[in-house]
Amino acid sequence: MEDISKYDSRPALEQSLSSLEDFRWLTTERRKAHYERGERLTEWVVLGRFFLDSCGNIGEYISENIPVEVFPRLPIIMTIDEFWEYVNSQSHSGSGKDISISIRYGGAIPSKSSVCSVCGRLDCIESNPHRKK
Ligand SMILES: [Zn+2]
Repeated sequence: MEDISKYDSRPALEQSLSSLEDFRWLTTERRKAHYERGERLTEWVVLGRFFLDSCGNIGEYISENIPVEVFPRLPIIMTIDEFWEYVNSQSHSGSGKDISISIRYGGAIPSKSSVCSVCGRLDCIESNPHRKK
């Protein structure tokens, strides 16, 4: 019996942001959980840039509506339900931002450029100007 909290919980996701290797480990474990053991995973939006689906796939938001760029105060880790609740609450408050979202799958996600070149963290605010606001 696998401990799903290691790859499908908020603490596990927070932990995984410390390096590209940790994050890739987590996404590999999620893929195995689904494709080898048939587990259905929680869907997460991470850093407002990445989408982890219930089958262990990872996608990257593309085009002009990258969530963290539209909503700079977006929490770092959200379930998909929390994410849509947040987006809808922002729209009702009059920001008027309708968000239509495109996601790309495949290739190296996240790429090395998503990682801070100094500390190696994925959530480093030095490498992500949107987080400083
Ligand atoms: Zn850094």
